[in-house]
Amino acid sequence: MGTLLSVKNLKVSYGGINAVKGIDLHVDQGELVALIGANGAGKSSSLKAIAGVLTPSAGEIRFSSRPTEKLPAYDLVQLGMGMVPEGRGVFKRMTILENLQMGAFLKKDAKAVQQKLEEVYSYFPRLKERLPQLAGTLSGGEQQMLAMGRAMMAEPQLLLLDEPSMGLSPIMVETIFDVIRNLSASGMTILLVEQNARLALQIANRAYVMESGLITLSGSGKELLEDSRVRTAYLGE
Ligand code: ATP
Repeated sequence: MGTLLSVKNLKVSYGGINAVKGIDLHVDQGELVALIGANGAGKSSSLKAIAGVLTPSAGEIRFSSRPTEKLPAYDLVQLGMGMVPEGRGVFKRMTILENLQMGAFLKKDAKAVQQKLEEVYSYFPRLKERLPQLAGTLSGGEQQMLAMGRAMMAEPQLLLLDEPSMGLSPIMVETIFDVIRNLSASGMTILLVEQNARLALQIANRAYVMESGLITLSGSGKELLEDSRVRTAYLGE
């Protein structure tokens, strides 16, 4: 299968702070790729640049064979990039159903929207039980489900997940990671940014380790789980 996303020499800076200092990575069709690393390593900044939420200071990004580093997020959504941001970003004063419908704003066909809703409900039965509930009243885990469901409504070619486990109870983290695994098994291409290295490496086909704005290690999820440097620095061993 071909490469869906490729990133070369990506740099991101905030004023004088260089958060991402020139990274290369790629995601092939159908892969689940994780980007792990400590707090402040530059993972979220990299993901935001890929999603067009911020403009990189240098580097090339190709998505579906098009150069996209200068495109805004809106264009990237149309090209098939689905972003689930850190902190979920659900519309708190809208209901669950309205949030999901917002995710399908590019779809004109009501039947297709309904089909997509049913698919989202099959992944997240808990959302279906609460359709009229305001998103702001959901638990953190339910908001994560909603943010993922909303992204899925647009039928993305690539799903970008920023710290899905953040702030969730262990049981909820398990539920969310089961869904990520199932989505991946159903063929969805996923780039996952995650501080919980063990969980991310357990489900990832491949992963990159980021430290101080650079990628310092990469390999299959299994290789990295067994790597002594990863075990010491990220798996608490
Ligand atoms: P986290 O898990 O905390 O999100 P991260 O690996 O995703 O960590 P980033 O959020 O990308 O890291 O942050 C990388 C660096 O850039 C950090 O030093 C951070 O303080 C800095 N940074 C991030 N966002 C901004 C901003 N809007 N303005 C200034 N500096 C920022």
